[in-house]
Amino acid sequence: MNLIAAIDQGTSSTRVIVFEAGKINVVASHQIEVQQFCPQEGWMEQDAIELWTSVQDCIKIVAAQLTKTGSTIQDIKAIGLTNQRESTIIWDRTTGKPLCPSIVWCDARNGTLVKELCEKFGQDYLRTKTGLPIATYFSATKLLWLIKNNPEVKGAIEKKTVMFGTVDSWILWNLTGGIQDGVHFTDVTNASRTMLMNLNTLDWDKELLEFFEVPDHILPGIRPSSDIFGTVKGGEFDGIQITGIIGDQQAALLGHGCTNKGEAKSTYGTGCFLLYNTGNEMVKSEHGLLTTVAYQCAGKPANFALEGSVAVAGSAVRWLQNNLGLINKSSEISELAAKVESTDGVYFVPAFSGLFAPYWKPDARGIFCGLTAHTTKHHIARSVLEATCFQVMDIFQAMRADSKSDLCHVLVDGGMTASKEMLQIQADIAGVDVICPQFNEITAVGAAVAAGATVNLWNLGQKMDNIVKYSPKISSEEREKMTKKWKMAVERSLGWHTD
Ligand code: ADP
Repeated sequence: MNLIAAIDQGTSSTRVIVFEAGKINVVASHQIEVQQFCPQEGWMEQDAIELWTSVQDCIKIVAAQLTKTGSTIQDIKAIGLTNQRESTIIWDRTTGKPLCPSIVWCDARNGTLVKELCEKFGQDYLRTKTGLPIATYFSATKLLWLIKNNPEVKGAIEKKTVMFGTVDSWILWNLTGGIQDGVHFTDVTNASRTMLMNLNTLDWDKELLEFFEVPDHILPGIRPSSDIFGTVKGGEFDGIQITGIIGDQQAALLGHGCTNKGEAKSTYGTGCFLLYNTGNEMVKSEHGLLTTVAYQCAGKPANFALEGSVAVAGSAVRWLQNNLGLINKSSEISELAAKVESTDGVYFVPAFSGLFAPYWKPDARGIFCGLTAHTTKHHIARSVLEATCFQVMDIFQAMRADSKSDLCHVLVDGGMTASKEMLQIQADIAGVDVICPQFNEITAVGAAVAAGATVNLWNLGQKMDNIVKYSPKISSEEREKMTKKWKMAVERSLGWHTD
């Protein structure tokens, strides 16, 4: 049996899943949680070494499982790598050690810097080239913050002793031999989120590099998502080729088989990301969405997508658990929320580090609105689930306006979709059919598809067969009433954070 291995390095956890090539048949898998550190208000860091170690540990365990199934490591014909995007890592090319913790995608320490850039140039100054607004989210503003605020990083860049990479490049470099012979590449989807790549040329852009003071010698080479990146050196996967790299949200799009123009998916993980395939056309957003690369196969033109990114989705569930102690594990939020039929007027805006799409407001902060003496933890729990769904509804509205299509259904996946309550609320609030496959590791499937396509062992565009559909149950009047209140709550969260 031919096998394809997928490595999925996410914000909450790392997974390695081995699939039968071309099929949703999991032969072996393992998942390890990774830590997130919040040393200051608005900051979010991870230990880059921990991210790499978790990949190695997953590989070890998966390899041991494989031998018990009668398959061998030699049956793995290719490896696909997918990853949390934008998170920024700087490491020493001779020691292999990171110079500082990974600055995670939702970290907003660069808020003041971003505010200054926006005031000086305008938020959409670089949109034509990058498809992105100037925001705390993208790697370039994180890199610029490091260059301006971390003398060690600045000095090492001047001495040309460091490499920059998003998580894919860091893991690839380590997988392929690190300081010995590690290769330094990224793929077009990850590169499109650094804010340093020109969407028209699919290459680093001189003007963008100058704007963000980034020298090109620290950058990885950019390749198509389905391409040969290198060969694993050492460990249980030694000798296997890495033939696919793709950012996690784009991987989910491929995993759902959304390869046709007009198809959309929404992934509810730590954050939530809705991607709408626009084919070979780059659609410029007029409503706060991002234009991004969806995927590219070697030798073919790139496919593009419109994306709505929501910074806080599942992380608000984790916050209820870790910071408020209202639940002991994520799954308990549904039990609490199901005890009430509505929030009875409670609205929660989880703008923990500002609001992403379609608002792009770094100065927003989280708020609960409409609390009364009648409010219970059940209402709070429900308002947290609703908050994700309202944010996605905002994205739907922007997506319909930008794409000029009516978008009446969406394919979904991610940790939060384990909550059936949330899926029904989403269908109700957005007024769309929500289609959830029974198999939930869609991001890993996308990585396997990207890698398998390179070695002709996986066809693009395969859809999941076992699905559950959630249709809207509330009236449009009720939806409008709730939407109006949500918009009022968002208004109240804006401009809260001041220097
Ligand atoms: P990522 O890919 O960003 O690491 P995952 O797709 O693994 O994230 O999803 C993890 C998130 O999903 C966590 O924030 C967790 O709180 C949330 N989550 C997991 N199970 C549930 C559940 N049953 N109900 C609601 N949220 C959940």
